[in-house]
Amino acid sequence: MNIKKQQADILGCKVDLVNLNQAVGEVAALLNTREKAAQIITVNAEILYEASKNPELTEVINSAHMVTPDGIGVVWAARQLGGNPQGRVTGIELLEALCQEGARQGWRMFFFGAAPGVAEQAADKLSSRYPGLLIAGTIHGYFSPEGEGDIIAAIKSAAPDILFVGLGAPRQEYWISQHKEELDVPVCIGIGGSFDVLSGLKKRAPELMIKLNLEWFYRLASEPSRIKRQMALPKFVWMILRQKYRRRL
Ligand code: UDP
Repeated sequence: MNIKKQQADILGCKVDLVNLNQAVGEVAALLNTREKAAQIITVNAEILYEASKNPELTEVINSAHMVTPDGIGVVWAARQLGGNPQGRVTGIELLEALCQEGARQGWRMFFFGAAPGVAEQAADKLSSRYPGLLIAGTIHGYFSPEGEGDIIAAIKSAAPDILFVGLGAPRQEYWISQHKEELDVPVCIGIGGSFDVLSGLKKRAPELMIKLNLEWFYRLASEPSRIKRQMALPKFVWMILRQKYRRRL
């Protein structure tokens, strides 16, 4: 990152303890300096737990330009390990804030991911919310390996400033890492299921639940199949406490 901000080392992955304004400012700085192929990752506890067992994923995270704490588990972990996190910077909030700022500054956005029509609908909704927003293109995220070349060519020819990729984590992180140089887009950001929410296809947790740090519970209740992923949480907590107390020995 260009701006000097506090970082936390969580299970071997660096996480930038920025707030939403700082994250948007960092993207603006990247676009002003015409930096190439910067990857931004918003991490939750499940991904950091997976990375603790997977050096390739750790490498992808540690090679990113900026890594923000997406979930409350990451904020908690940073605090346990002596950091001073300023709260969450989720993929959906970063996407919305960048669209708001981008509409003012004339940044070109590309939305890639989600079921056919969903990214397009999300783009329409955001365009009416932020007049002047420039959508350089949208492509859905259900493709065969043979179709990947066309997707890359379409993104390149649209020449966006920011590419948002919604293929789910950590697949989108691997995808960006693998293709960012070839894509030649200044900033690429993985945003999970944000297009589903912004298009109206899915609902985000009610404001009060988000404030009470219970968004994870809402997602589990509305999509019980996420239980397998969320089983990582107690293991994550255990590993953080081990990292914390080992340091003190
Ligand atoms: N998705 C996709 N292509 C696929 C599989 C999934 O574009 O082959 C999309 C899916 O439609 C959804 C997003 O990836 O919009 C994953 O959303 P989820 O909320 O599971 O994201 P995560 O919690 O993993 O960040």
